[in-house]
Amino acid sequence: MIFLNKKFNINDNLVFGFGDKKIDFQTKNINERFNLLKEIKLNYSIKNANDINIAELNQVHGNTVLSIEEQDIKKFSRKSGLCDADGIFTSLKNYLLCIKTADCIPLLFYDKISETIGAIHCGWRGTYNDILINAKNMLAGYYNLNLENIIVVIGPGICKNCYTVKEDLYQKFINININYKNYFKARQINTKNYNYISEKFEEYLFDLKGLISDILLTLGFRKENIYNINLCNYENDNYFSYRKNKTDSRFVSFIGKL
Ligand SMILES: [Zn+2]
Repeated sequence: MIFLNKKFNINDNLVFGFGDKKIDFQTKNINERFNLLKEIKLNYSIKNANDINIAELNQVHGNTVLSIEEQDIKKFSRKSGLCDADGIFTSLKNYLLCIKTADCIPLLFYDKISETIGAIHCGWRGTYNDILINAKNMLAGYYNLNLENIIVVIGPGICKNCYTVKEDLYQKFINININYKNYFKARQINTKNYNYISEKFEEYLFDLKGLISDILLTLGFRKENIYNINLCNYENDNYFSYRKNKTDSRFVSFIGKL
């Protein structure tokens, strides 16, 4: 487990960090939700641990972000099933926002002034479909916050040396912004023969974290508030990777005011 309080000099009322393989947070593993709470109790002095609600989503690689406020708490009770969305925000206490990933990029948001928090699941689809703009609109619009005070943590996810994609994905991104070509590195594939390079089979290495960081800056988040923990789940065996093992397992990223 990685806890980030010390890094940001934030007191123990805010719980935020990243799990690893020790907690398999795939949706059906209900018990792992309790194990996450246990782990948190070991590391934080929490008064009313029973009041903590795990707030999670049925992540669909979309661009929908939701807020949990007094008026919509019912939506998030497990009995009514999980909401289809890929981002979740709250200003309330006792909601531990949880995002599950295994290659995609988890992002955690924390406003230093109001202590509003958020977590999103950001793969190429979400990024392509503007989930970051929706997150910004949630924070700057719905919550009326100044983006300059918001910390964004880029969690464990696939890195620019491991994320191979095909030509069509490259084309999709450069069609929305030609400058996005800077986040794709063409890789020449050698055949059995000798350095024969076929355009047709060319792959790209995609720096999704770099692109996310760039988009965050463009949207108005401050460079000094964007923190990339620089951890590649594909390379690090303490984390699940779908690309590597075709696994259903997921590790958790979490943030909550307790
Ligand atoms: Zn990597």
